[in-house]
Formats: sequence, structure tokens, C-alpha cells
Amino acid sequence: VSFGYTDVTPTEKTEKVGQVFRSVAARYDLMNDAMSGGMHRLWKDRFVRRVKPRRGEAILDMAGGTGDIAFRLMKSGADITVADINGAMLEVGQERAAKKGYEGLAWIEQNAETLCFADRSFDGYTIAFGIRNVTDIPKALREAHRVLKRGGRFYCLEFSTTLWPGFGEIYDAYSHRLVPKLGKLLANDEDSYRYLIESIRRFPDMPTFERMIGEAGFVRTHVEPMLGGLVAIHSGWKI
Ligand code: SAM
Repeated sequence: VSFGYTDVTPTEKTEKVGQVFRSVAARYDLMNDAMSGGMHRLWKDRFVRRVKPRRGEAILDMAGGTGDIAFRLMKSGADITVADINGAMLEVGQERAAKKGYEGLAWIEQNAETLCFADRSFDGYTIAFGIRNVTDIPKALREAHRVLKRGGRFYCLEFSTTLWPGFGEIYDAYSHRLVPKLGKLLANDEDSYRYLIESIRRFPDMPTFERMIGEAGFVRTHVEPMLGGLVAIHSGWKI
């Protein structure tokens, strides 16, 4: 499997992704604002509007990291479980929740490929900017399908490939030249941000990823591109 520009074994990839997020955890939220010019907030707002959480629903926010999606989802009164493979990211998330006075979130360390939850536990499954870091993506999608109830919905927010002419090239130049520099400047970690950018470039395009969601068992799959597909919301239903 690929890790940035190099090929590694699946176990090595999981370990290296772990190192990346342990290394960036403390600076993660600052870096998101710096790299996206604050736009990630708008993408996340739109994502949660699409999920339409309702009071009393059980929602699993997978790869929930420092809680950005969970904090938005919980405003609906839904019961949110934040799961992430990385304890350092979850720790920052719990500190943020305490500072904001948010209570009632469940935080749990979990690998998206091998979830501890029983079949049909959740009404909704969300994953934002997480799936491309997962080593075995089809396995994680099958697990998402397994833990959802019938009628449950899957929502994924992820970088994809923009189809706007010219925009892709500008974005490529920006991300490959500037983002690692920003990583060095703000988080003293150029390599982690090199990996993060390269993992975006290697992620399957919108039709391919939509097909993978269907192969995991989801129906009525749908893609909503933003900025021509630079970022996309993929969704599907379990019936
Ligand atoms: N969802 C948050 C957000 O939108 O701000 C965090 C996104 S962050 C870019 C990616 C997260 O995916 C990290 O917290 C990382 O630890 C997590 N992750 C990577 N591989 C994972 C896996 N196999 N299972 C669960 N989480 C994983």
C-alpha cells in the first residue's frame, strides 16, 4: 500500500499514519484553518446539514479526531460517539470539549477496520477527512455498513479531484509547494504534511469511491462535489 510517495506494508502504513497524527495533534486545528483559509469550517457545516442528525439518534463519528464534526452533530440532541484510532487526537478533542463545556460525548479508541460495536448499533455513520488515511478502505466501509441499523445512513467528507479546468493545477501547485512549508512553519513538521497532501492525490476519484461504497452494501449512493470536487460528500443508505 502507499504511504505518501513510498510503498509500505499495511501494518507499516497504519503505524506511520499513527505517527503523523500523534505528531500533528496539538497543532491540528490551527493547521486546518491555515491551510484551508478557514474554509474547512464551511465544508464541515455543510456536511452536518446533509447528515441532518435528529434528537435521540445514535451517530458514530468515525476518525472523529479533535471533535470538529461531533461538536456540530451534538447540537441536534443526537447521541454522538467519537471514535478514532489515535489517542493523541482524541485527547485534544476531549480537552476542547471540556473548554467549550460540551458534555455527553462518548470518546473511544477504535480502528475503523475492526469496530467493537455490535451489528446495527447506529442510525448514522460519519467520517470526515478520515477515510483516505485508513489502510484497508473497503474493509472500513464494510464495517460502517455492519454497525448501521437498517435505514441508517453513511456520510463521508473527503478531498477528491476537482473537475474544474485549471483549478486542479493551481491547487496542486499550492498544496505541493505551500502546504509542507506551512507545516514546517506552524507545526515544525514538514513530512507529515507532505504525506497528507500526497494521500489526497492518491485517493480514488468520485465515481470510483462511489462504486466502492456500493460494493460495501450501501444503496442510493450519491456524491455532492464542492469546488468542482476538490472536496466531496459521498453518501449511501443501508436497507
Ligand atoms: N474528522 C476530524 C476532522 O474532520 O477534523 C479529523 C480528521 S483527521 C485529518 C484524520 C483522522 O483519521 C485522524 O484523527 C486519524 O487518527 C484518524 N484515522 C486514521 N486512520 C484511522 C483508522 N484506521 N481508524 C480510525 N481512525 C483513523
